[in-house]
Amino acid sequence: MDGAGLPTTRSTCPYCGVGCGVLLRPDGQGGLDVRGDPDHPANRGKLCSKGSQLGQTLGLDDRLLSPKIDGETADWDSALGTVASRFAATIAEYGPDSVALYVSGQLLTEDYYVANKLAKGFFGTANIDTNSRLCMASTVAGHKRAFGTDTVPGTYDDLEQADLIVLTGSNLAWCHPVLYQRILAARKNRGTRIVVIDPRRTASCDGADLHLALAPGSDVALFNGLLSEIAQRGLIDADFAGNVTGLDEALATARSEDLSVTGLSDTDLSAFFDLWCGTEKVVTIFSQGVNQSTSGSDKVNAILNCHLATGRIGQPGTGPFSVTGQPNAMGGREVGGLANMLACHLDIENAEHRQTVQGFWSAPAVPTSAGLKAVDMFRAVGEGRIKALWIIHTNPAVSMPEADRVRDAIDGCDFVVVSDVTERTDTARLANVLLPATAWAEKSGTVTNSDRTISRQRAVLPAPGDARPDWAILAEVGRRMGWQSAFDYQSPAEIFREYAALSGFAARFGRDFDISGLQNLSDEEYDTLAPVRWPVTATRVGGRFFGDGRFFTPDGKARMLAVNHRAPAASPCDARPFVLNTGRLRDQWHTMTRTAKSSRLSAHLPEPFLEIHPKDAARLRLSPAALVRVENDLGSAILRARITDAVRPGEVFAPMHWTGETAPSARIDALVAGACDPVSGQPESKASTVSISEYRAR
Ligand code: SF4
Repeated sequence: MDGAGLPTTRSTCPYCGVGCGVLLRPDGQGGLDVRGDPDHPANRGKLCSKGSQLGQTLGLDDRLLSPKIDGETADWDSALGTVASRFAATIAEYGPDSVALYVSGQLLTEDYYVANKLAKGFFGTANIDTNSRLCMASTVAGHKRAFGTDTVPGTYDDLEQADLIVLTGSNLAWCHPVLYQRILAARKNRGTRIVVIDPRRTASCDGADLHLALAPGSDVALFNGLLSEIAQRGLIDADFAGNVTGLDEALATARSEDLSVTGLSDTDLSAFFDLWCGTEKVVTIFSQGVNQSTSGSDKVNAILNCHLATGRIGQPGTGPFSVTGQPNAMGGREVGGLANMLACHLDIENAEHRQTVQGFWSAPAVPTSAGLKAVDMFRAVGEGRIKALWIIHTNPAVSMPEADRVRDAIDGCDFVVVSDVTERTDTARLANVLLPATAWAEKSGTVTNSDRTISRQRAVLPAPGDARPDWAILAEVGRRMGWQSAFDYQSPAEIFREYAALSGFAARFGRDFDISGLQNLSDEEYDTLAPVRWPVTATRVGGRFFGDGRFFTPDGKARMLAVNHRAPAASPCDARPFVLNTGRLRDQWHTMTRTAKSSRLSAHLPEPFLEIHPKDAARLRLSPAALVRVENDLGSAILRARITDAVRPGEVFAPMHWTGETAPSARIDALVAGACDPVSGQPESKASTVSISEYRAR
């Protein structure tokens, strides 16, 4: 029996930040037929390999179907009672900052909002951070420093209206495939040129006019060189410069930059400068290669500086453009899911902002300073300062830098709660209390993609076993801790209306994020909500920001920052001569809890590996396809060598997907150092130092 004649439901892909719309139809055998939604503005019917295989990843074989306490199946009443009482007792004995939540860009906005409200408004701690800290925190910091708010200026349409697309630190072809397809289509239709800036030769280079294989971490120098060249060629936009401060200082610093640190030839530098300076409509897309760095925030500002100096921002086909890794990384930024933010882009250090949020929530307290960011949070867990930890839809025992230390820290924590769809993760195995949550296609809410488009995810499958939505689990804990009216939610629609109303209050402080036009949606209107780009107010829906030259700083002017190149925290040495870069594969997602269920996806690159340059392989006398031991003082991993000149000599690359569940000897994040950007707190996942030797099993 097939699903012909069964109803089709519109939803959104749960993987990357492109946020593609999908059409879901029961296949008549308990599964789903998944197609691209031709009406969704992000993908117009297209899906990548991961999205098109979603129907193959819905099996319940590994699902967590009931709560568990200390490994024993329990009922919800006992589990929630245990969570509420342990968190209340810990806060009472040790204070609010002795507890923490570590959440995820997999959460829907409504779940995220309730988690943030529970922590910051009612637990009284800002110790709620998210795995998005590992993804785009440097962009948030860079945006706020330049624009006054965390604002993505442009839209996906700009990618098709640009004449030059610069991809820096972004393997868009694999990590945001549908956006890459849109760019390739624009290249075919209008001759859009593409530059890729990446130490590795990635799949994104296949369609590029120019690939700059710069030295890891040297993006600031490169964009400072570009800024200097812009001025040299008389391309500073004198009209737009009136909307900007800091131009002279940024330019003076840029002119002092030594471009030799990029390792690029004069020919390559000139080719890039000629393309950028000679093209009016330029979009610079950046992602993890920029963000995951101890100078990530400065890299972002170096990019923004070039667009601000030329006025190439807020106009069709122009602008800096951050693409987010996860389906709802943007939603998490909007609800204040980072330890240093409040909901609706309000600032935790601002007393008026705090009072507004506190009053709106009728909350007993809102913390006056930022909480612990992810790396510091798990260090505090390891040091015993965090005594109760709630981890939601993420697997930090594998995915955090210094993953072995993080795993040991969680293992040693007094009380650990894990909400997830499966118990077969390295992190879930360490939980005192396991809470079964609903998964994609079983839960309802909204997500925001990389171009600020809010889309619905809709439930089409019944919740299996005892699984519950995250918002309902969080709200019930809030009620059991005594805050009945604050958490008396009956539906995600109700939460969304509250959140939209709060954004209207926030907008009075000149914030960008305003969806107050959605605060009176009926349940039916919420159910049928079509994708809509924020802001959504009585007078405005969507569009670009900053085309009018007005920014969200106190004086309305953008800030150009004087930023200098800083090398990565770790330098290669005799003991650890290689620089380790980590990243994603085309057909896997995070720690593979969903994608590994598809044999087709797993067939793409089926085992963990290490890319190493032929010269290095020869020097180490590696046989083809040898197993190698990669190690440093944080840990070790055993991987299959892939000898390729896609990486530069002295640099190696390993994918980050394999876990203790799927390949215990290949936990690559165990080797990633926890050095962080001092502004954003984002760890440097692309430049750890390691040694390599051939591994021979005894
Ligand atoms: Fe899903 Fe991203 Fe692929 Fe679109 S591009 S189908 S959102 S994984």
